[in-house]
Amino acid sequence: MPEPLLFEISSPGRQGYSLPVCDVPEMPLQKIIPPNFQRQDEPDLPELSELDVMRHFIHLSILNHHVDKGFYPLGSCTMKYNPKINENLARLEGFTCIHPFQEEEEVEGALQLMGELCEYISELTGMDSVTLQPAAGAHGEMTGIKIMRAYHESKGNPRKKIILPDSAHGTNPASATISGYDTVQIKSTEEGLVDLKDLKAHLDEEVAGFMLTNPNTLGLFESQILEIADAVHKAGALLYMDGANMNALFGVVRPGDIGFDIVHLNLHKTFSTPHGGGGPGSGPVAVTGDLKDFLPIPHIIQKNGQYHFDWDRPKSIGKIQGFYGNFLVMLKAYVYIRMLGSQGLKRVTENAILNANYLMRSLEKHYLLPHKQHHMHEFVLSGDRQKEKGVKTLDIAKRLLDYGFHAPTVYFPLIVHEALMVEPTETESKETLDAFAEAMIAIALEVNTQKETILNAPVTTPVRRLDEGRAARDLNIKYSRETG
Ligand SMILES: *Cc1c(COP(=O)(O)O)cnc(C)c1O
Repeated sequence: MPEPLLFEISSPGRQGYSLPVCDVPEMPLQKIIPPNFQRQDEPDLPELSELDVMRHFIHLSILNHHVDKGFYPLGSCTMKYNPKINENLARLEGFTCIHPFQEEEEVEGALQLMGELCEYISELTGMDSVTLQPAAGAHGEMTGIKIMRAYHESKGNPRKKIILPDSAHGTNPASATISGYDTVQIKSTEEGLVDLKDLKAHLDEEVAGFMLTNPNTLGLFESQILEIADAVHKAGALLYMDGANMNALFGVVRPGDIGFDIVHLNLHKTFSTPHGGGGPGSGPVAVTGDLKDFLPIPHIIQKNGQYHFDWDRPKSIGKIQGFYGNFLVMLKAYVYIRMLGSQGLKRVTENAILNANYLMRSLEKHYLLPHKQHHMHEFVLSGDRQKEKGVKTLDIAKRLLDYGFHAPTVYFPLIVHEALMVEPTETESKETLDAFAEAMIAIALEVNTQKETILNAPVTTPVRRLDEGRAARDLNIKYSRETG
């Protein structure tokens, strides 16, 4: 372990607090806690000064790579900078000290914030109605598919299948399967887009819907989207959009205007909530007017200028989350939208696209670029040329850590060999993009000159290359003083 535990640096008698002398009569302990509930031994707590504790946590905070420390171009994950004003506002007591069991009239401000956020999301997506309940993107997908099922059931047949392209994010087929549908995978074309012929060949009266990410996971805009929507609707099916890539669209294209019936957003990606450590997320779902009666309860409505929870919605799919969703994530998204305004959001999209294309053109001579056209907010390289010389994509990813960068997403999407999926995001400067390109180019040269260094990377990090397969299969999270 590069950093000892607090217990290991503890020194008896050292302390990091001081309390004023007690100025009220002390009550005998027996009167406060009955003897049978009192502990017999001192608790074995570490004893440290404030400085010891501060240094310990600062050391821990810089062992890992994180977005406040360095560039983090993890494709599909949108590791952008999260403005600190979000955190400041999310810590206000008026927000942190409210409870979901409070009466509506005691939390009108919070309700208004949620109601207005729904309106902003409707506006940005071109949809009629929104739920904020889902706690993640995948949870939003599941909610969307339950809505799909309820819609088809209301027409007399829930149908059996969901179609997905082979470029889909893994959560898409998982959400369809967990909601009781069979999944059908269709091919992508050479250009990396939906194969319309293959889609049409699979559309029949048992298809409940088609789930599509747009721009797709190759970072390409599905330019035949109007024809796709038309074909799906002619078969009586619904068109679902995985909107995790909305930072390539907002202010420019609205899912509701190009034929989508349901879309989920990832507030914790697009709308700047820190994520990556399994922390709270939020995956709101927006739907067209035909589907709004099926949204989860309670639904937020406005009556006489005030916002309320409406529980009386007989066609609703019911509740899908404890209480109302992750409120503080909604709050951060709300602050983000209000700070940027509509022009600011549009510039987010423009800069996300500009940054990705600039970086792509800086790298295309040195790495294989399977899809050469103009991209949206991310692009996918292949490590095939380097692999021929004995260096895998995983080795390149590890070597990047030595240059101070987090790796791109690797081996996804599955349709590109040795994939390196790069999403710089809109918050990075030209200097940072140039520095990353230089590192990637330096590694491409090292493949010829010092292959062993790459194969042994990382060499500068607190721990060396970990056995990722074993870490997942043979999970041992209990600390031991002997083995660390
Ligand atoms: C991140 C992501 C998801 C899943 O979102 P979670 O919040 O991690 O559940 C789904 N689709 C795409 C394209 C994504 O990038």
